[in-house]
Order: sequence, then structure tokens, then C-alpha cells
Amino acid sequence: MLKLPENRARDLISIVVPVRNEQDSIPQLHKRVQSVMEQGAFPYELIVIDDGSTDRSLDILKQLQDQDSRVNYLSLSRNFGHQSAILAGLEHSRGDAVISMDADLQHPPELVLRMLELWRQGYEVVYTVKRQDHSLNLFRRASHRFFYWVLSKLSGMKLSFGQTDFRLMDRKVVDAICKMPERKKFLRGLVSWIGFRQTQVEYDVPTRFAGESKLHGLRHRIGFALDGILAFSVVPLRVFIFFGLFVSTTALLYGAYVTGLALHDLITGGSRLVLGWATVVAAIMFIGGVQLIGMGILGEYLIRVFDEAKQ
Ligand code: UDP
Ligand code: MG
Repeated sequence: MLKLPENRARDLISIVVPVRNEQDSIPQLHKRVQSVMEQGAFPYELIVIDDGSTDRSLDILKQLQDQDSRVNYLSLSRNFGHQSAILAGLEHSRGDAVISMDADLQHPPELVLRMLELWRQGYEVVYTVKRQDHSLNLFRRASHRFFYWVLSKLSGMKLSFGQTDFRLMDRKVVDAICKMPERKKFLRGLVSWIGFRQTQVEYDVPTRFAGESKLHGLRHRIGFALDGILAFSVVPLRVFIFFGLFVSTTALLYGAYVTGLALHDLITGGSRLVLGWATVVAAIMFIGGVQLIGMGILGEYLIRVFDEAKQ
């Protein structure tokens, strides 16, 4: 058992769990969390967010809530996705520290004790990093690594491979995150960006307790990666601006060259160009160039609006 400073011994801990069709895992999760938290003598609340489940998850949650007053559930009107479900849970949590974890027991509840110990030492964010996920195939492992590499490069943030949504956040951090006005939040990026005193713990990923992964699909993975990149990087916008400037400069130069040729023909009475061709090309090049530069300028404004909107 942990030795706690007196003043923190009565702190409430919130455990936030997003759930999508996890009827077989929920009772086990409840048991494991309970035994861990009682072992450390922590007052806690378990907030389960039903993310539009279509199985018996919701009934099971209702039952649990009747039996155990520490259990609370939120039921979302439809499937909003794992990130939104966690956020809904954060918004409804009351704890001095809030821990988010998956329902399928791939985030071992026993690790919570270690996370809480670090929190008591003064860390405000304790995130977890997986050592090796044996439930993933080679392709998924490689694409994970690639995603984190791209995102770190694009955003200039330090995101390490293997970060998960199993993490502890101090009340201060949770409040700061909930206050951010963005609708689409990419938690892993936000938490790393937001600062505060952070530390990490490593863990081995067990296989799923029951049921199937809901986030495995390639389409889902790509969507998730795009959210992360678009939320944190203006590089894609900038690429278009540079491309636009490059093309338009070339176009304007070429237009000038063609005009020069035409003038040369006119003065020397030569006939290198078909009559009227130079006018058309110069006009197209000029208009095209102006449009691209205009778009580039719009893009720059958009970048600023985007940054402001995210505050
Ligand atoms: N989940 C959710 N909404 C979704 C998909 C998943 O709340 O639309 C929950 C799911 O019940 C689980 C957690 O998010 O508790 C992680 O999902 P999963 O285990 O399927 O992902 P993986 O571990 O394979 O990345
Ligand atoms: Mg899982």
C-alpha cells in the first residue's frame, strides 16, 4: 500500500472509460478497478461513457450503478467515437485526478497505482507508453510508427510512438483541456502540447479481454491520423501556398517570355509565332498566376484564423 501525505489521502479519483459494445468486459473491468482502488484505499468514481452501444452494455451499466454508488454512466445518443466519448467523460468527472482507460482491459488497472504514486509526487500528467503490442500485426505496428513519425515532423511536437489514451491528468489539466474551444480534439496531441509536469510509465499490452477491437479498421486509422495531422499542423496548407507561388511565378515568367517573342516578331517582321497565340497564352498565364497567388494569400489568412480558432 502507498504511503500518502495526509492532505491528499481523501482526494477523489475519477476513472473515465469509453465503451462501445463491451458487454462481456464491463463486469470484469468493474471488479478489477474496484480491487485496485480498494487496495490503495482511494476514494474514486467510475464514469463509463456508453458510446452508442448496440449490445447489452447499457443494461449492464444500469445494473452496476444500482449496485455500486461509485459507478456512474453517461449514455451518448449515438456513436460519436472513442475520443469524443473520453472527452464527454472528462467533462463530467469531478476527481482531483482523472484517469482515462479502455474497457477491454488492454489498459491494466493495476498500473493505476503506479500512476497515482507519480501524481502524488507532483506530476500533473502521467501518460503511458506501450512496450510491444502483440495483438497487432506487422502492418499495423509499422503504420503506427509511421503516423507518429509524420505527426512529430509536421507539428514539431514530441510525440513518441506507442502513446495511448491510458493516462492520468490532474484536475488543472482536465479543466484546461475542457476549456479549449476546439470541437474535434486529438487528445494525445493536445495533452502533449499543453505542457504541465509530465512523465511516462511503460506497460505491456495484454490481449483484449473479450469482444473485438472497434478501432482496427484501416479507414478508421486513416481518419484518426488525418484528425491528428490536421488538428496540429499547418504544413499541408503551407505546401499549397508554396506550390502556388512557385507555379504562378513560373507562369508569369513564361507569359513574359511569350510576350517578348511576340514583340520581337512584331519589330523584326518575323513569324515565329502564330498570330494571336501569344496574347492568349500571356492572358491565361497572367490570370492563372494571379489566382494562385490570391489563393496563397487566402491560405495564409486561413492559417491565422485556424490558429485563433484553436486559441
Ligand atoms: N470505443 C468507443 N467508441 C468507439 C470505438 C471504441 O468508446 O467508437 C471504446 C472501446 O469500447 C474501448 C476503447 O474505446 O473501450 C478502445 O477501443 P478498442 O479496444 O476497440 O481499440 P484498440 O484497443 O483496438 O485500439
Ligand atoms: Mg483495445
